[in-house]
Amino acid sequence: MRGFGILILVLGTIGIMLALNMDTSVTNSAGAKVTDLGLMADRQLYILGAAAVIIAGTLMAALSGIRKRLALTDTATRPCPVCGKTINITAVKCTHCAADVAPLERK
Ligand SMILES: [Zn+2]
Repeated sequence: MRGFGILILVLGTIGIMLALNMDTSVTNSAGAKVTDLGLMADRQLYILGAAAVIIAGTLMAALSGIRKRLALTDTATRPCPVCGKTINITAVKCTHCAADVAPLERK
């Protein structure tokens, strides 16, 4: 999920660079180059879309790490190897039978 978020972030960055380099001028009947408001509006939409993609990619990359860490925090539990009752995943002593238990390794 983290790699996918980074990929989306890179694609959004490429998209915003392409949109910023977009030519918004057209040649009129007299041969002069004039700025086309429709093309400028298109470029604005592309920039906004790419910015949304960048934000989504950043959130995916950032939140995937947080979710992994939350899985091994104080809310995570496991059964006691001695009595089988639910204890904290980081516990070194069972609160039910007072047996010494080895804390699970954090990944
Ligand atoms: Zn126990």
